[in-house]
Amino acid sequence: MFVNSASGARFVITGGAGFVGSHLAETLVARGHRVLAVDDLSAGDRANLATVSGHPRFSVRVGDVTRPGVLDQLCYGADVIVHLAAAVGVRRIVDQPKQTIRTNLDATERALDAAERHHARILIASSSEVYGKSEATPFREQDDVLLGPTNKSRWSYAASKMIGEFLAMAYPRESGVDAVSMRFFNTIGPHQSARYGMVVPRFVRQALAGDPITVYGDGSQTRCFCDVRDVVKAIALLGESPAGSGEVVNIGAHGEITILELAKMIRRITGSASEIVCVPYDRAYEPGFEDIMRRAPDTSKLERMIPWRPRYTLEDTLEAIIAHECVPAAQAAIAGD
Ligand code: UDP
Repeated sequence: MFVNSASGARFVITGGAGFVGSHLAETLVARGHRVLAVDDLSAGDRANLATVSGHPRFSVRVGDVTRPGVLDQLCYGADVIVHLAAAVGVRRIVDQPKQTIRTNLDATERALDAAERHHARILIASSSEVYGKSEATPFREQDDVLLGPTNKSRWSYAASKMIGEFLAMAYPRESGVDAVSMRFFNTIGPHQSARYGMVVPRFVRQALAGDPITVYGDGSQTRCFCDVRDVVKAIALLGESPAGSGEVVNIGAHGEITILELAKMIRRITGSASEIVCVPYDRAYEPGFEDIMRRAPDTSKLERMIPWRPRYTLEDTLEAIIAHECVPAAQAAIAGD
């Protein structure tokens, strides 16, 4: 299906009150689309949707998309389903592998069934975790993947996302569903919760509180952090485009940075006096935890599909996150005057 952005399509976003989902809802409404956000509010928050709540082209439903029938009903008349609802965060995956596997598999299957029944294009959230420990950076979609053994629960997330990708290729092949898998790399921005262990919101909060900044391992591992505004632009363009059915596409930024450099950068931008401490992996996660030492995307496939390049630098994004984190403190100070 080709959706002309000017004409306005009907989008359903699962996980619509979450970090990426809420930014996407805002962007899609601004691009003239109608948006229904579905969320069970287990990780998402209605407050994330404050800027679109009450807009005539936006609505939200509280519902568990892993339950049979829920999505099927809500997707009636949908042109595009963006399936973002998932159990996320390495911390949660290590602590609750059973729930992670079940949530990710059940929700993806129901979302694809809904797309099939309602003839909607569907974009499925996958993850750069799928590349596992591969050292062939920057990662390309057709590269081999290298996962660790099944007794290390971290890899259950990658495996559940891989099954999601296999399904998102099987449905186009067997049932003619228009499905694309999006492999997200590290995405950051305002509204990202520190609850699930993600590094940037944790470091920012630690720095602002003057607490030690906890670098896991020796901090030499690298990541590329993409601004959520760039990520949702890519999702919106993919939703509006006919490109990529039955394919997998990377979405991420290019500048690689070590986690130790990241800690220093956040300390500098916040003006914090926090000390930076190294925490061994087995204390941070679990004994035998395996980190991914380098992770960087090759986004040339995405850039061939849609007119997209990441716009924001890491400094721009960190400044936006820090400003957002400081707003409640500033408001409290004004209220106290
Ligand atoms: N990390 C860290 N301190 C923290 C949280 C995470 O040093 O308080 C590290 C983590 O070990 C990893 C990197 O930061 O090497 C990115 O972690 P995150 O969980 O944000 O994403 P992912 O591991 O999925 O890339």
